[in-house]
Amino acid sequence: MNYETRFPLFRLFIRLSRETRTRALWKFLFNFLFRGSLSARSFKKRQAAGDKFPAFIVISITNECNLSCRGCWNTPTRPPVRLSTDDLNSIIMRTKKKGSLFFGILGGEPLMHPGLFDVIASHPDCYFQIFTNGTMLDDAAAAKMRDLGNVTPMISFEGDERVADERRGGIDIYAKTMEALRVCSRNGLIFGTATSVCKNNIDALVSDDFVNRMIGEGVHYIWYYIYRPVGADPAPELALNEDDILRLRSFIVDARTRFPIGVVDAYWDHEGRALCPGALGISHHINPSGGVEFCPPIQFVRDNIADFASLDELFEKSEFLDRFRGFASDATSGCVILECPEELMSFLESENASDGSGRGSAFEALAQSRRFPGHHIPGKEIPERHWFYRFAKKRFFFGFGGYG
Ligand code: SF4
Repeated sequence: MNYETRFPLFRLFIRLSRETRTRALWKFLFNFLFRGSLSARSFKKRQAAGDKFPAFIVISITNECNLSCRGCWNTPTRPPVRLSTDDLNSIIMRTKKKGSLFFGILGGEPLMHPGLFDVIASHPDCYFQIFTNGTMLDDAAAAKMRDLGNVTPMISFEGDERVADERRGGIDIYAKTMEALRVCSRNGLIFGTATSVCKNNIDALVSDDFVNRMIGEGVHYIWYYIYRPVGADPAPELALNEDDILRLRSFIVDARTRFPIGVVDAYWDHEGRALCPGALGISHHINPSGGVEFCPPIQFVRDNIADFASLDELFEKSEFLDRFRGFASDATSGCVILECPEELMSFLESENASDGSGRGSAFEALAQSRRFPGHHIPGKEIPERHWFYRFAKKRFFFGFGGYG
């Protein structure tokens, strides 16, 4: 079915009001949209006053996972490394005090953390986006999310049957992912899919067919990411070239004017200029060991939450993050791990940064990494065409930087 419409936003709101439970819709409108816009505004005020606490925190709560995806930065260990519920509640409480109430929850597979739903239940005034592979998202988990209301699952979607199994290192992953979408839909959740666009799925995922299929499955937003060849199995052959990235950008801008579904990116502003959420201090990442990283794919640390009296003290005093933001802003408007791996290596060495990956091989991998095109393509900017996305990006910029 073709869901194209001349009024995509109005049609999307109609979908949300018809397809989701009232509690989920209320929490989305109030905790995420209304309070989220206040958070973005208070962040700008804080930044103008020299306060370095980011607008949003992205937290990897565990390194446990039941899959082993190519290009994933996470490495499971036995026993697993998890942030305790006390640490999570403390991070959330300090961040709330700064006026920020939105949290990106990653893993590994966050649904494997036994304390996840207790933590979410403890903060009904916040909004949580769970990045999940969907294979553990059954009706019981969805029912908990439905009753909480302040949580939206975002399910990784990497392509058709063959690509999904190949990329995710599992069996029947495509079928399990599709089932997770149906579980979310029948439980009246607000939910999305996350796609890490690469060479072997760009034709499938950057297409009207994919968008229509997601709308047909009840998906409310699609978050498009550019594949980064990182982790234990970086698969550099999957990285996109400049034309692929321009094709992706052009499709995103166009799809926003035609389809009743949210289309999200964390790379470009309203004029199509590249930006990096980490370099702008909009978001930073806390790994399962409590290490604070510039962003999830760049697994190098100097600061740990355990070494500071509070999270605000950490962000206030972290010279590493301060210099990292400066270095990244000078190096490129785009993505330093794609576009400037050698400079990144020299910077990290000069900072005596430590390998936060848990593999002990992150420096070696970075040393072997080559330059790849990123989303900073000067002279080929593609501005937003839909008024709402222009307004949102100009005013609030909802690139929370999850995967970065
Ligand atoms: S992945 Fe790249 S663009 Fe994203 S936050 Fe990290 S450095 Fe910036």
